[in-house]
Amino acid sequence: MMDFPMARVIDEQACYDWLVELLHPDGLSCPRGHPVSMAGVHKRHRAPVLVYQCNGLDCRAVYCAFTGTMWQNTQWRPSEIVQLLAGVSQGKSSAQIAREIGKKRDHVMNRRHQLQGNAFEALPAFPPARSRLRSGRGVPERRRERHAARGS
Ligand SMILES: [Zn+2]
Repeated sequence: MMDFPMARVIDEQACYDWLVELLHPDGLSCPRGHPVSMAGVHKRHRAPVLVYQCNGLDCRAVYCAFTGTMWQNTQWRPSEIVQLLAGVSQGKSSAQIAREIGKKRDHVMNRRHQLQGNAFEALPAFPPARSRLRSGRGVPERRRERHAARGS
């Protein structure tokens, strides 16, 4: 498969905006929940990734879109993160993703493992709790509910 030097053609602002939407579907806020509209820009040296300082009551929290996520303190550019997510979802090898982004293969593999770990943690518990089994609400019934919800 051909490698594409995507980092050179990708719009950093568009990637950043997409990541903010993905990481903060209810809107970016400080770690205490004050909306970003209550904050001032603290640092812009890594623009488009801005560091904010909250002006909420009794709150001077300094944060960015990656605070509290697996990307906290990352040096990766938004376009590199988007390319990693795209590459992993497309089933590309870590070596290919690393070449395309211009990162070391181990760094890509570490991030891929973190993503897979996060996805695993987000899975529903299995097997279902005993109380659910006893009440007759096991997995098959949950599947039927899901199919019914989809209208199939
Ligand atoms: Zn705050």
